[in-house]
Amino acid sequence: MGKHDKKKGAKSSKGGKSKGAPAPKQMVFRFGKRTDGDGTQKALLGGKGANLAAMARMGLPVPPGFTISTEVCTWYYDNGRRFPDKLAKQVKDGLRSIEKEVGRKFGDRRDPLLVSVRSGARDSMPGMMDTILNLGLNDVTVEALKRATSNGRFAWDCYRRFVQMYGDVVMGVQKKHEHDHEPFEEVMDGLKREMGVTEDTQLSEEHLKELVRRFKDLVKRWTGKQFPDDPMTQLHGAIAAVFGSWNNDRAIVYRNKYKIPHEWGTAVNVQAMVYGNMGDDCATGVAFTRDPASGENVFYGEYLVNAQGEDVVAGVRTPLPVAQMARDKVLSKSFGQLEKVRKTLEKRFGDVQDFEFTIERKKLWMLQTRNGKRTALAYVRIAHDMVKEGLMTPEHAMKSADPEAMNQLLQPVFDRTGYEAARKAGRIMTKGLPAGPGAACGEIAFSASRAEALARQGKHVVLVRIETSPEDLRGMIAADGILTTRGGVSSHAALVARQMGKVCVAGAGEISIDYHAGTMACGGRTLREGDFLSINGTTGEVIEGQLGTADSELKQVLVAGTMKPSDSRVFRDFDFVMKLADRYRRLGVRTNADTPEQVRQAVAFGAEGIGLCRTEHMFFEGDRIDAMREMILARDTDGRKRALAKLLPYQRSDFEGIFRALEGRPACIRLLDPPLHEFLPHTKEQQAELGHKIRVPAEEIERRVHELHEFNPMLGFRGCRLGVVFPEITEMQVRAIFEAAAAVEASGIRTKPEVMVPLVGFRRELDLQAELVHRVAAEVMDATGQRFEYQVGTMIELPRAAIAAGQIAETAQFFSFGTNDLTQTALGMSRDDSGSFLPRYQELEIAKDNPFASIDVGGVGELVDMACRRGRETRPDIKLGICGEHGGDPSSIKFFEKVGLAYVSCSPFRVPVARLAAAKSAVELGTVPKVGRKADKPAKAAKPAKGKKARGGARR
Ligand code: ADP
Ligand code: MG
Ligand code: MG
Repeated sequence: MGKHDKKKGAKSSKGGKSKGAPAPKQMVFRFGKRTDGDGTQKALLGGKGANLAAMARMGLPVPPGFTISTEVCTWYYDNGRRFPDKLAKQVKDGLRSIEKEVGRKFGDRRDPLLVSVRSGARDSMPGMMDTILNLGLNDVTVEALKRATSNGRFAWDCYRRFVQMYGDVVMGVQKKHEHDHEPFEEVMDGLKREMGVTEDTQLSEEHLKELVRRFKDLVKRWTGKQFPDDPMTQLHGAIAAVFGSWNNDRAIVYRNKYKIPHEWGTAVNVQAMVYGNMGDDCATGVAFTRDPASGENVFYGEYLVNAQGEDVVAGVRTPLPVAQMARDKVLSKSFGQLEKVRKTLEKRFGDVQDFEFTIERKKLWMLQTRNGKRTALAYVRIAHDMVKEGLMTPEHAMKSADPEAMNQLLQPVFDRTGYEAARKAGRIMTKGLPAGPGAACGEIAFSASRAEALARQGKHVVLVRIETSPEDLRGMIAADGILTTRGGVSSHAALVARQMGKVCVAGAGEISIDYHAGTMACGGRTLREGDFLSINGTTGEVIEGQLGTADSELKQVLVAGTMKPSDSRVFRDFDFVMKLADRYRRLGVRTNADTPEQVRQAVAFGAEGIGLCRTEHMFFEGDRIDAMREMILARDTDGRKRALAKLLPYQRSDFEGIFRALEGRPACIRLLDPPLHEFLPHTKEQQAELGHKIRVPAEEIERRVHELHEFNPMLGFRGCRLGVVFPEITEMQVRAIFEAAAAVEASGIRTKPEVMVPLVGFRRELDLQAELVHRVAAEVMDATGQRFEYQVGTMIELPRAAIAAGQIAETAQFFSFGTNDLTQTALGMSRDDSGSFLPRYQELEIAKDNPFASIDVGGVGELVDMACRRGRETRPDIKLGICGEHGGDPSSIKFFEKVGLAYVSCSPFRVPVARLAAAKSAVELGTVPKVGRKADKPAKAAKPAKGKKARGGARR
């Protein structure tokens, strides 16, 4: 990874700036006995080149070579694909220095030096140019190589590989259509057929000579050009091909996908060849210093005896596990060398290394090393072990984290063998969007009530719906997994699944559901309610029938309590990483939670309070919805007040539960927000049923439902507009909050309610609501004789609120950015309707990311930044937080760290993701607090990072 880029190169020109600029002075950097560059110069030398230099400096056996810098690549493109005049001379000097070190000459007729030409960008980039090996061979030098090694077959094998690679990569002899055969392979297969052999290794020296001849003919036919014999011409052709490959389609696609800047450019490495294909005392291989899947501290890798280059990965022969080399009679000594190298590399690079090597006549040569990619499981284990072993700095453990991947550790998993069997049996029905990672298996239920009923019988359930709505919530809670056939990753089902940590596959459009018949059909198969179904929310797969699952160990320890911490290795590693994150992060992490259960889970995962409690979810439970509906349908204030009085005790006891579960942590509670219409029954039967219960004629209900219908509910009668027009609703809610606070405080538990008024655009809206809140608070304190701390603030979720933030802060004690609505209103884009055009927008790079998943820094981000500044101007100690979905998104979290928010809030199961992302951002931005967060004093193992700025120092 492109971490330390202290020296040159980072400033390399952006598209066209070096046009007409002089070429860089030093373009060629040697490595070997004399090494010009070092490991910090990834920007200049590329990842491969910088690490070759680093290894050479460490005294590891690296075949000598040189790197042509990325600056030459940028210059080349800025100057109409022309090389700087002085490059040829510097390349020649570079070659001279290799020749001196190995004692062979390039193009020599007795003992020729051969080189490899390798591309190497800052980050490794599959899809770039393939490496060319054995460059420098021609009809004369091949015979010299044969004499020098007394091995004709070897020499000619090198030659045919070279002509093949060079013909393909540099001269463009490649298949034209996907279904064509590789032209060189076709020629080789033809020869094998003629000679009656099946394996490459059965080809004799004579066969190989014939093959080279045919390869060259192929090149001539294909390109109209002669294969170049002059080694220097070959070398310059290869260098130009590497630079050219920076802009081939594969490379561009890859850079777009992984957001690698196009102006970085690639370096070229030219390196003396070492041969793993000279006999049985030779080999080539790739290895990891630890197991990248489990993180276990074992040597992990593969090698092939008597092979060259890509043979290991190409799957021509099956490689052997590296540990087996210890038992190889000829190569066991080399294994000893490798073991030593393994330790040395980890010590020097402070992380697990993924490296490539070749053994030539029992001598080990190192050809590459880089930080190894790993699973989440391996990440926590390696971070734990290597930090404790003193090999990895805690800063690196944070910086190299992939916070998003923490989710992998929380998800139940399908039993592997069962899955394979199901796949083989053709039981995989279709694929939807992987909306909530993990594995779930259970009986199909097509309605929420059915799901609940089955769950009550102790059964596992998969709730299958066309789409879900708040009414389905109880069924969703009861189900092990949720499958919908409509809606995207930000649909209701997906949102709830994330908040609850539920397995969910959304929008599996190939499935058609017939609620009446109680069936779901897909690809000719029909399943009924009660049949078994398995869904994989990590892959989106929907599988017919039963598959065994297991709860993740982390949940067993932290949530279910069915496992002791000491029994779980994953837990120990995870816990270590999380505690480390807590020392390095500046941002607080809260949770979005509506029930005591969610609070307890979130706290177990490290949440420091509630950032968003949505009160409306509470109205769907049990009979409460009836009172709620009665309130909505009431004709006048008195009627509303009567219905609200029924709701008050419910809300009060809910808040009590939440305050108790919080044990003194703050709770930001949002007043009623959604349009009332959402709470009403929509079918005739439901309306009749309700009418019967609350003794109102069904027609009357139908009429009210009709009246309340809005053309654009998102912009309609909702948010604080409800409380402004019907203050009695707000009054009931805050009374419930404060009475609950008083009761809980009386029992000795601290409470910190923060009353949040939604959808404010005008200061006066907030003033009216705040007045009411303060009055009720005073009344409750008077009536109960109990004092409690509380705050009143607002959500900033309308552009007008961001603009008027300075005025709003006169009244608001805190802001919480509701970035979901703020994104919708700032972009004038409805999240639920964006599916039809947003993907195309992303392809066209109008919007790089989905703005509902990752904050739109240039637009919405500017509004957030502006509101922060204006808010602070009025009220320097204003508390700033974020409670939108973006609060759990690592790249958004980095932005929130930059603007200096006090906390982010996310769903309970994303809390670990947010903790780690916050720490990573602080380390990257240099905003690690001087003293660790709260009581957690930094242990001596971990020195806090450079920490130029203290707590809150990230403010602009
Ligand atoms: P990639 O970036 O695709 O990994 P490399 O440049 O690392 O490509 O080259 C691929 C393989 O070619 C290496 O793993 C090594 O086995 C072989 N190779 C490259 N340079 C040399 C060399 N100088 N001597 C021997 N083998 C080499
Ligand atoms: Mg490689
Ligand atoms: Mg909102």
